Amino acid sequence: MEHGLLEVQGISKAFGGLTAVRDLSFAVRAGEILGLIGPNGSGKTTAFNLITGFVTPDAGRIRLAGEEITGLRPYAICARGLTRTFQLVRPFPHLSALRNVMVGRVYGRSGGAGLADAETEARKILGAMGLGGREDVPARHLTLADRKRLELARALATRPRILLLDEFMAGLNPHEVEAAMALIRRIRDSGPAVIMIEHIVKAVLGLSDRVVVMNAGQVIAEGSPEAIRRDARVIEAYLGGSGGA
Ligand code: ADP
Ligand code: MG
Repeated sequence: MEHGLLEVQGISKAFGGLTAVRDLSFAVRAGEILGLIGPNGSGKTTAFNLITGFVTPDAGRIRLAGEEITGLRPYAICARGLTRTFQLVRPFPHLSALRNVMVGRVYGRSGGAGLADAETEARKILGAMGLGGREDVPARHLTLADRKRLELARALATRPRILLLDEFMAGLNPHEVEAAMALIRRIRDSGPAVIMIEHIVKAVLGLSDRVVVMNAGQVIAEGSPEAIRRDARVIEAYLGGSGGA
């Protein structure tokens, strides 16, 4: 059987009477950008919470590079190479940009880096994410766009095999969205696969190699951006009002 880098098989999660995610299955290949879209409340963030170990699935299995990670704690999953950003960015506000990224390095995959190595690598990553010269600025003094770059830098410092981005572009202006698209492409080209939850249709269809569409906790369509743009169920459930926006 062919192995994806990440394989999600039949995961479900109910909160009380509400099934937020129902029998969700999809796979991510190495080197791919996978878009995850759907209306508000369709279960996208819950899917991320299940994959990253912040919420335990009621059913189903998750494998990373062939190894089962279902039920592991978030830090253990991160240490195996699956890293996320949050819908609301939350760096350590009083730490400098540099220190924030060093934290990612020390706690990530092949963790336990010495501080000198962690600092060298953190500076390199900050430079690649366009934050060169702002290493010593406390995170709370960065603009939203720069805090988001910092969030990417911190995630990359964990040396992910897969990076999960939850509405990373929310709140950015069109110019900043263009810049973020270029950064995400650069990240994918540097190694990690990317799964992105994103409402900015132009960005997610423009970046993704493949798109999974959720509605009411389930996958309603999966395919190339071109196929998804034309899919009648997707247009009805999601793209209708904003298609092509
Ligand atoms: P999306 O990210 O697609 O907007 P979510 O995964 O955040 O959707 O939410 C899916 C559904 O699950 C929503 O109805 C939401 O209110 C519910 N939900 C999510 N997390 C919890 C939780 N911890 N407790 C109760 N309900 C939740
Ligand atoms: Mg969400």
